[in-house]
Amino acid sequence: MAQRTALITGITGQDAAYLAKFLLEKDYRVVGTYRRTASSNLWRLEEMGVLDRVELIPMDLLEMTNVVRVIQKVRPSEVYNLGAQSFVGVSFEQAVYTSQVNAIGVCYLLEAVRALDGAARFYQASTSEMFGKVREEPQNEDTPFYPRSPYAVAKVYAHYMTVNYREAHGLHASCGILFNHESPLRGREFVTRKITASLAKIAHGQQDVLELGNLEAKRDWGYAADYVRGMWMMLQHPHGDDYVLATGESHSVREFVDKAAECAGFRLAWEGEAVSARGIDRASGKTIVRVNPDFFRPAEVESLRGDASKARRVLGWQPEVTFEQLVEIMMRADMDRAARGRLLHLRF
Ligand code: NDP
Ligand code: GDP
Repeated sequence: MAQRTALITGITGQDAAYLAKFLLEKDYRVVGTYRRTASSNLWRLEEMGVLDRVELIPMDLLEMTNVVRVIQKVRPSEVYNLGAQSFVGVSFEQAVYTSQVNAIGVCYLLEAVRALDGAARFYQASTSEMFGKVREEPQNEDTPFYPRSPYAVAKVYAHYMTVNYREAHGLHASCGILFNHESPLRGREFVTRKITASLAKIAHGQQDVLELGNLEAKRDWGYAADYVRGMWMMLQHPHGDDYVLATGESHSVREFVDKAAECAGFRLAWEGEAVSARGIDRASGKTIVRVNPDFFRPAEVESLRGDASKARRVLGWQPEVTFEQLVEIMMRADMDRAARGRLLHLRF
C-alpha cells in the first residue's frame, strides 16, 4: 500500500504531538502546520522525540488562501484539524478571534478539502464543552448542546459545519466529541497542568502557593495518548460519523488537587468554604492551595461526564489510563522538571 500522508493542524499543541508520534509509528508521512511566531514552540514534538520526522509547514487558519494552498500542496489522505484557540477562559475576552479561528477557520479547511477532490478523510476536534450546561448525564452523541463560552459556541458551529459537509458533499468527515484529556504536555493554563506544575514547584521551594478558581467543577479527565488513538480509529472506519471519547468517570478539581498533592508528598487538610477554602499541608501547617476569584469563569460548566459506548461498540475504542494513573504520570513529569529547574520560568 502507498504511504499515507496525514496533515495535522496545530502541530505545536498537546494532541498533535501524541498523534504525530502515533502516526509515524504506523509509517505515515506526517505534515504538521504551525503558526509563524517570533519564538519557536516546538518543545512538545521535541519531548516526544519526533521533531526531526515531522514535516513542518506554516499555516494560519485565519488565512483562507493559505489554507487552500497548503491542502493543494500536501494532498493529504487524512486531515486532523486540531488547531484552535483552545482555552475556554481566554475565549470570554477574545470572543471574535476565537470564533474566527475555531469556527470560520474550520469552514476554510472543509472548503479546501472539498475543492481538492473531496477524497481526504477529515477529523474535526469537537469538544465536551459543547454540552456546557448539561441536559442529561452522562452525555452521549444524542445529548443536546448548550454551550457556555465563546469557545464552545464556535466549536458547535464547526461541529455542525463538518456534519453538513459530510451530508451535503459526501466528505468522509468525522467529529470527535472529546472530553478533557491531559498529559505532561498539556498547556500550563489548563487546570490539571497548572496544579501539577505548581505543586511540583512548591515541593521544590520554587513557589509558595497554588491559586485556583472553582474547586467544585467536575470533569471527565482522560489521557491524551488514549484519545489520539481514537481520532485515528474514526478515520479508519468506512464511513464518517461522530463519536464521544470519554472515560465515563468524573472528578472535581479539588479531588485532582488532593491526588496530585499526595503524589508530590503532601497531605492536605481543607479549611473554609467557597472563596475562603484553603488547602493546608498537614506536615508544615502552611497554606499551599487557596481560591482566587479571578480564576472563576463568567459562565461555568459545572460538571461533565461522557458516555463513550458508541466508540467502544463501533470502533473498539476504550481508554487504558485511569484517573489515578493520569495524575501520577503528570505529577511525576512535573516533579522531574522542577528538580531540573525547568519550571522556573512558569508563572501562574
Ligand atoms: P493546544 O492548545 O495544545 O493546541 C492548539 C493548537 O492550535 C496549537 O498548535 C496552536 O498553535 C494552534 N492554533 C491556535 N490558533 C491557530 C490559528 N489561528 N491557526 C492555526 N493554528 C492555530 O490544544 P490541544 O492539543 O489540547 O487540543 C487539540 C484540539 O482539540 C483543539 O482544537 C481543542 O480545542 C480540541 N479539544 C481539546 C480537548 C482537550 O482536553 N485537550 C478536549 C476537546 C477538544 P500555537 O502553538 O501557535 O498557539
Ligand atoms: P476546560 O474544561 O476546557 O475549561 O478546561 P480547564 O482545565 O481550563 O478547566 C476545567 C475546570 O476547572 C473549569 O470548570 C474551570 O472553571 C475549573 N478551574 C478551577 N480553577 C481553575 C484555574 O485556576 N484554571 C483553570 N484553567 N481552570 C480552573
